[in-house]
Amino acid sequence: MTTTTDTHCPYCSLQCGMRLRTGPEVGAAGAEVLERPGFPVNRGALCGKGRSAPALLARDVRLTGPLLRDRPGGPLRSAGWPEALDRVAEGLAGVRERHGADAVGVFGGGGLTNEKAYQLGKFARVVLRTANIDYNGRFCMSSAAAAHRRAFGLDRGLPFPLEDIPHTDCLILVGANPAETMPPALRYFRELRENGGTLIVVDPRRTRTAAEADLHLQPRPGGDLALALGLLHLVIADGLVDEEFVAARTTGFDRAHAAAMAHWPDRVERLTGVPAARLREAAALFGRAATGMVLTARGPEQQSKGTDTVGAWIDLCLATGKAGRPRSGYGCLTGQGNGQGGREHGQKADQLPGYRSIEDPAARAHVAGVWGVDPETLPGAGRSAYELLDGLGQPGGVRALLLAGSNPVVSAPNAGHVAGRLRALDLLVVADPVLSETARLADVVLPATQWAEEDGTTTNLEGRVILRRRALDPPEGVRSELWVLRELAARLGVVDGFPAEAEPVFDELRRASAGGDADYAGISYRRIAAEDGVFWPCPDTAHPGTPRLFLDRFATPDGRARFAGVTHRPAAEEPDRDYPLYLTTGRVLAQYQSGAQTRRVPELNAAAPGPFVELHPRLAARLAVGEGELVSVTSRRGRAVAPARVTDTIRPDTVFMPFHWPGAGRANTLTNPALDPVSRMPEFKLCAVRVERAEGEAS
Ligand code: SF4
Repeated sequence: MTTTTDTHCPYCSLQCGMRLRTGPEVGAAGAEVLERPGFPVNRGALCGKGRSAPALLARDVRLTGPLLRDRPGGPLRSAGWPEALDRVAEGLAGVRERHGADAVGVFGGGGLTNEKAYQLGKFARVVLRTANIDYNGRFCMSSAAAAHRRAFGLDRGLPFPLEDIPHTDCLILVGANPAETMPPALRYFRELRENGGTLIVVDPRRTRTAAEADLHLQPRPGGDLALALGLLHLVIADGLVDEEFVAARTTGFDRAHAAAMAHWPDRVERLTGVPAARLREAAALFGRAATGMVLTARGPEQQSKGTDTVGAWIDLCLATGKAGRPRSGYGCLTGQGNGQGGREHGQKADQLPGYRSIEDPAARAHVAGVWGVDPETLPGAGRSAYELLDGLGQPGGVRALLLAGSNPVVSAPNAGHVAGRLRALDLLVVADPVLSETARLADVVLPATQWAEEDGTTTNLEGRVILRRRALDPPEGVRSELWVLRELAARLGVVDGFPAEAEPVFDELRRASAGGDADYAGISYRRIAAEDGVFWPCPDTAHPGTPRLFLDRFATPDGRARFAGVTHRPAAEEPDRDYPLYLTTGRVLAQYQSGAQTRRVPELNAAAPGPFVELHPRLAARLAVGEGELVSVTSRRGRAVAPARVTDTIRPDTVFMPFHWPGAGRANTLTNPALDPVSRMPEFKLCAVRVERAEGEAS
């Protein structure tokens, strides 16, 4: 029988609504995507990734049963679930017994549903009793999250729905390329311009998004902090500060004023490469606009000064009165499918559900009460993602790792080193729908269900909690991570509190989050389905949810937003004589994150079959490199080889590589794991490299 199910795309944070038609006669995978025009975020529009997502369900691209390795270096072989689960439970227990609870680690992902993220955190703290749980979302939005909390007392990616964007007067998009990362969102920016608004894009590359802007500022990588300070300087100098707003709704302006005064236009031009005249143009457009927004993405965030960089852009919003008001504000465009919810419910090293701090005694008592354990038994904060990976197999580090929804062999910074650390583990367990590059290193691989085969919620970039519905059955040998956690918990002596179905987990999550910043207490599956999603905070079932935050007060103790008052500093690694160019990394339209899924979809692979190195014609001429010829890119951490793509859309001092591929062209072989001191975000967005012709080498 053919059925249709309203659900959402498995990929990015837009979480586009889609309708799945399923049945034995529907294509090879038993499912096809139809439009779901009623869902407000994308109104039926989908990008190629969403449209082709059913290809992921085909048996020939995925795992259909557990795999085991009998000895280090030996081959993976098929196994039954009881044998695989026994092996995992015995391995985890053995490491815990020999080396202590913190020698067992958990690594999650920003694509996991809220229920899985919540249950992973609970499993780590209640069953394993380890402090060492973190997730790949640390690599995505943690700097924006830290800056958001510092300024506003609360972190939700967008404090307003996307539908507000067309109605602002001036929008600055910093280090974001929605034309390639989330194409259906582009219409909000186009509508803004059709309404007479101004779009300014800040990006070292003239991306497809930048090509649509009224003004494109093209700083060198790492220049965004100085650029924001330069704009603030000009806003102050031109008398465009909203004195009334600053006095009534903020604190700390004096500090920001002093910092901005040290960043006069000529100095900022030297620091960023952006001509002072363009800077003045942007400052006037934004400063004189009645309403305005600044949206950041990974460009300014994935830096060793990411928290301060985002803080400087927030300061610009605050000084001009463009926050906590209708049609104005700062926001972060989250990346992964559940980039927002994934950081709210306990898979982050320092957090408990509801976006609570694990160091807060009241938060510990509340969550321990929901979990039925003594608060004293809950561990404290563990290591951040890169620090956890860097310590694998080392004295004092994690020796057995349970990993779900992540592929760090491709996606972690300094990925060659991380792969080596994974190989040094006593036990690596990977739960994944496909045999990813990380799963290939595992001792035990557990085949996991996918979005169309299970219920679960995610929280999109707007803070809208939405519901993915089970549309078809998974293959016989595949299980959900919730089922796996239940089975492992039982084998490790905890028989209650780990249901295999999602809705009871969500109902417990609601209670655990009640009273926290990210309060889901009033959100139910029934409401989400009936209301096209519910915005948190939503503290009770009669509450309508909160699409717009901060309109009356900010979430700080005194209700005022806090200026960051930060100053420019260089990146952890600037170009020098040996490594004279910047490398920046990012995504392409047809691939997603580490590519573990999209590289298995034929039409996406045909559109974007492999890595490349984008370089300016002047640089290409200097290196005597032609279009398509192989070049090597070398940093202090390693060397990658890929074909050249010669284009004048990039700065002559910068090369760009997409990061979706393993092997010789793996961009993250090169990237710098230097961490932001507040967010512990690695500096993916820039490092110093040397580029050379790679004659005679295979791609
Ligand atoms: S924009 Fe994102 S959520 Fe929408 S269809 Fe594309 S990948 Fe899926």
